[in-house]
Amino acid sequence: MERSTIVRVHEGLHARPATRFVKLAKGFESDVELVKDGKAVSAKSSVKLMLLAVKENQEVTVRANGADAIEAIEALIGYLENPKAGLDDEAETQSPANDAGQEAAPAPAPQSATSAPGQTNGLRGVAASEGVAIGPAFAHFPPEIAGQGRMLLADEIAAEIDRFRAAVAAVQARMDRALAQDSLSAGDRGIVAALRDIAADDSLTDEAEKAIKGGNDAVSAVITAASTIAADFSAVDDHYLNARADDVHAVGRQICLVLLGQDDVSLENIPEGAILIADDIGAWDLARAPLKRIGGVVCGHGGATSHIAIIARSHGIPAVLGLGDQVNALRSAHEVALDGNTGHVIIDPDAATRADFAGRVEAAAKERAGLTAFKTVTPKRADGRVIEVAANIGSLEEIEAAQEAGAMGVGLFRTELLFMRHMHLPSEDMQAETYAALAKAFAPYPVIVRTLDIGGDKPIAGIEFPDEENPFLGWRGIRMCLDRPDIFKRQLRALLRAAVHGNVKVMLPMVADIDEVRRTRVLIDECAAELKAEGVPYATFDLGVMIETPAAVLIAPALAKEVAFFSIGTNDLTQYIMAADRLNPTVAKLNDVTNPAVMSAIELTAKAGISAGIMVGMCGEAAGRPDLIPAFIKMGLTELSMSPASIQRAKKTITAMVAGE
Ligand code: PEP
Ligand code: MG
Repeated sequence: MERSTIVRVHEGLHARPATRFVKLAKGFESDVELVKDGKAVSAKSSVKLMLLAVKENQEVTVRANGADAIEAIEALIGYLENPKAGLDDEAETQSPANDAGQEAAPAPAPQSATSAPGQTNGLRGVAASEGVAIGPAFAHFPPEIAGQGRMLLADEIAAEIDRFRAAVAAVQARMDRALAQDSLSAGDRGIVAALRDIAADDSLTDEAEKAIKGGNDAVSAVITAASTIAADFSAVDDHYLNARADDVHAVGRQICLVLLGQDDVSLENIPEGAILIADDIGAWDLARAPLKRIGGVVCGHGGATSHIAIIARSHGIPAVLGLGDQVNALRSAHEVALDGNTGHVIIDPDAATRADFAGRVEAAAKERAGLTAFKTVTPKRADGRVIEVAANIGSLEEIEAAQEAGAMGVGLFRTELLFMRHMHLPSEDMQAETYAALAKAFAPYPVIVRTLDIGGDKPIAGIEFPDEENPFLGWRGIRMCLDRPDIFKRQLRALLRAAVHGNVKVMLPMVADIDEVRRTRVLIDECAAELKAEGVPYATFDLGVMIETPAAVLIAPALAKEVAFFSIGTNDLTQYIMAADRLNPTVAKLNDVTNPAVMSAIELTAKAGISAGIMVGMCGEAAGRPDLIPAFIKMGLTELSMSPASIQRAKKTITAMVAGE
């Protein structure tokens, strides 16, 4: 018996979702398979599932055979369609693969970067974790593990299988103990959990046992099995899955060490500030290492999405990975300097390079330390008026980063992702839950939710977009929403319901005509009346507009009388004022917010808002620029919303500005 569906698991069946799926499947006695593009694998092996490389929005079939086949299919299809429902361990850990997907990828290394003043003995690898470091070299090249190199006798095989199973159990137990420690950070916990899953997976154990039954000793069998599975991961057309090959090797190595009664070369004794140099470091080893002491990491293996990179980034350790065989040149180095922004590594730097790096390290450390102090600062103008420094986010997953940075609420919640992530338009309930969760997370600070701003350049399922010559000048944002009250009212109802749970404000994108605001108000009133009649709790919210069209700037005085706030969207405003497509690199020079034309549009907007007594904020990229913030504050803006990474620097800029006045 079988049933097909479209996968709604965000980012597909990567590490943790695959594990959850397997956990569910193992709860049924039926044989269960997942089929994609005609290829069927056991649904009870997370490795096999990951190797099937099932992505979000792909069609798959669940096939079950056995007494409880119907129940199995129902449960597994249910998970694929609605992964958040009914799983008690959903929040247990995050998928490390997903973590990688969500992290900002490090900037690619510029092709012509110079390594250091006057020094040429540099190497170049993947810039995997930003920052610069210089320190004593700590070479970590544990010896290769080799099997016994002899074939087992037939009567030795059963005992060797027992030995192998005991070693697997010991590794799993060790990983379980590590997971039970409170000291493990959430990110590292997810990584160790993924490794434990590989250690527990039938693919690895079956493959190894097959080799032992063929007469191989357990160590050789594990090396062969790990290499086979790692090769499969390397062959998949998905760089997150490619990085799992290193995990398989790491797990295989741990099993071998137990079999050999050896302990891995420990990182315990790494000196303070040392640069860890290795061909490869198992994520397992790195997660357990004294990370606070590690000044930097340089590796032959690994890329920007490998676990080493993820761990390094999340602990703020500069890293250059993927040096390949070049890393051997570092084996005998005494001192190493590395630049995690460009991918440069310098062996035994000369005096000038050393001084240069030492200066950069000191400046970066000073800046970092100085900025953290601004997390809890409430920046104020000279007259005491608070300037709200808020976050731009697009999903609930980003709440933590925004809070960590010290966001004073959300100045722009882009709702497009909510619509783009799903095969169908999101339901009112689902939207209401999302907006309520956002409001609760930041209360009493405001969260400004922007209504759907989608257009022909970013189509979504459930809305037919016409072909347009100029999508940026076409049917997008508020224009589309007003033409589709079925979609718009669902969002407005959800927002009214969410407003009960916190300080929700709503803003409209792409407004060019005052009538757009008035028609929206009519719909909001209709929605409120409906909710009232249905007995559904709701609360009213402040309605504002984005100022991102030249028309909105020019009618700002009239608009200001109709709304509670303005939020200037400099990204679009710049492209429309300058008639320079924000996506077209050939006109990038014109697409410049500092052009006097754009700056005076911002000033006009501020003047109109202030004289009408409403709040004027900004949520375009320019809001986070320390070089422009003083000008915006002088214009009278009292809210600046930006990506979480810019928040502390912005708070510092405002504070310094006031101090200097
Ligand atoms: C803007 O246009 O400045 C803005 C914040 O909106 P978006 O970048 O989502 O178009
Ligand atoms: Mg915009």
